Amino acid sequence: MSRASLATLPSVDKLLQHSALQDLQAAHGKTACTQALRDVLAQLRSAVLADGAAVDAAHLAPEAIAQTARSALGQRFAPRLRTVFNLTGTVLHTNLGRALLPPEAIESVVQAMAAPVNLEYDLASGGRGDRDDLVEALLCELTGAEAATVVNNNAAAVLLALGTLAPGREVIVSRGELVEIGGAFRIPDVMARAGAQLVEVGTTNRTHPRDYANAVGEHTALLMKVHCSNYAVTGFTKNVPDGEVAAIAHARGLPLVVDLGSGTLVDLRQWGLPHETTVRETIEAGADLVTFSGDKLLGGPQAGLIVGRKDLIAQIKANPLKRALRVGKITLAALEPVLRLYLSPDQLAQRLTTLRLFTRPAVQMQAQAEALVPLVQSAVGSTFAVTPATMCSQIGSGALPVESLPSHGLRIAPVQSQHPGRQLQRLETTLRQLPRPVIGRIQEDALWLDLRCLEAADQPAFVQQLEKLNP
Ligand SMILES: *Cc1c(COP(=O)(O)O)cnc(C)c1O
Repeated sequence: MSRASLATLPSVDKLLQHSALQDLQAAHGKTACTQALRDVLAQLRSAVLADGAAVDAAHLAPEAIAQTARSALGQRFAPRLRTVFNLTGTVLHTNLGRALLPPEAIESVVQAMAAPVNLEYDLASGGRGDRDDLVEALLCELTGAEAATVVNNNAAAVLLALGTLAPGREVIVSRGELVEIGGAFRIPDVMARAGAQLVEVGTTNRTHPRDYANAVGEHTALLMKVHCSNYAVTGFTKNVPDGEVAAIAHARGLPLVVDLGSGTLVDLRQWGLPHETTVRETIEAGADLVTFSGDKLLGGPQAGLIVGRKDLIAQIKANPLKRALRVGKITLAALEPVLRLYLSPDQLAQRLTTLRLFTRPAVQMQAQAEALVPLVQSAVGSTFAVTPATMCSQIGSGALPVESLPSHGLRIAPVQSQHPGRQLQRLETTLRQLPRPVIGRIQEDALWLDLRCLEAADQPAFVQQLEKLNP
């Protein structure tokens, strides 16, 4: 090794002209390259000043500097939002972006991003339009509601509904329904933010019609029901059906607002899935407003949908907060085609991506698991045993929390180890470091890869990168 000396350090200008840096400048521009080179040179300078004897002169060669700058720029320009393989078994995984959109929606989004659209422009009259008009008729047809509006997410929908109908007044909710959804959405907190006063009735496990009736007073704005999305109260329980709460509210001239959470538009039982109350059923039971998410069971983009009585929707739309919570063209471009798929219910399980994942035939996933075992086995090496296994997928995002879907996948367990936990953690980490990270779950001394969300079209990409695995 020859010792480095500051005298041999090339200048930034010299480096910018060097052939090794031409493609980098073409890719990222001169400004970013200059900055990266300055950073590398500054590091080298301080290393040489600190202890020149310890620095190899080869590091000061233009090619070496170019290489360091290349990797720094590579990191700086690498996207932080990455596509991953969701093999967790949770189909609507909030941390992994919830629903996957069907091709119709993806196509529509791409077009809306690239060209002007009639977002708020009435093509018939040439006058100003309302962005809700793009989906309102569809939402009304699919839910039986009179009117509809769209906001950023269901949390926003609840905030807006309460902030419009109940500021400074009381909202009656059962103690069994004071839900916390992950990510700091808690009914009491949202209520406070909306300026409404929460009146809790009943107990955690049992609420009776008289609890609602007795709580109504001159300050009551509305009665509210909240879907117990992510938990179940079982045992000695009593929950008053929507229809009865609606009757109590209507007898006093008050509206019933239902936060349905996931809010499916179709009866899932027709595909052998557990029943989840539909938006239409809730409207038919007498709810005056229903709020639900766009990216849970509905299978669309992140959005909050509010459907119900025309006069109440009109009030909501007149609230300045609606302007702050409204959705953009990209959301509407995705939502409209997703809603339209529901007009062909017999094709839904094929065309709506999330429903297709919920209803994947077990034999298909089983065959996939068997085909993948030898490939994954050779990738993880002989210290692990890979076997096909049955497992349970979840719908996720708080929809049907106690129900699970029988699924198939791979179980990867250390062959013999005093520290299975440590070995599994290491494997989990290396899977996350793949070009397209693979996310599984560790449970019972094994790493489980649920194949429900690995459709045939994704399998080649999954297999191809296995050779890069370095356990
Ligand atoms: C999921 C959920 C929300 C929040 O919906 P986002 O679309 O995630 O904002 C609110 N209420 C209930 C009951 C939910 O299940």
